[in-house]
Amino acid sequence: MNADFEELYQQVILDHSKRPRNFGTLEGPAVHVDGDNPSCGDEIHLHVRFGTEGQVEDLRFTGVGCAISQASASLMTLKLKGKSKQEARELLEAFTDVVTLGEHEAPKMLGDLRLLSGVRKFPQRVKCAMLAWRAFEQAMQEASTGPVSTEKSAPHCS
Ligand code: ZN
Repeated sequence: MNADFEELYQQVILDHSKRPRNFGTLEGPAVHVDGDNPSCGDEIHLHVRFGTEGQVEDLRFTGVGCAISQASASLMTLKLKGKSKQEARELLEAFTDVVTLGEHEAPKMLGDLRLLSGVRKFPQRVKCAMLAWRAFEQAMQEASTGPVSTEKSAPHCS
């Protein structure tokens, strides 16, 4: 990791953890998933509204935890909003590869999320970076398997 990368990494992570984007909950029907990472104390509450074709119409999150978990969630919401089901799945897989596989070149489509690639050297940090994405993966599953997607978003996480 060179010095420029290190500096950019810290700026972006700090910026997103201090001022998370798409922070909050969604009104109306949305899939709601809670995730946690007990080894670090991170929590995420993710709300996703999928369109009829499974596209990501909107998503928001609330949560507490370390800078990496919150920054990853914030960056994820920016990246996934408006994406088709297929695009969202590709991004999920690409990001998972980048933070879990060793020799992987981060694809350009991940944008600033590539900055999180450094966590793969630290297994505990991988869980932090993946927390929001695991929640999103679960939300996709719930949306495709049934009634959860038509329920009102549950207020119990606010
Ligand atoms: Zn963490």
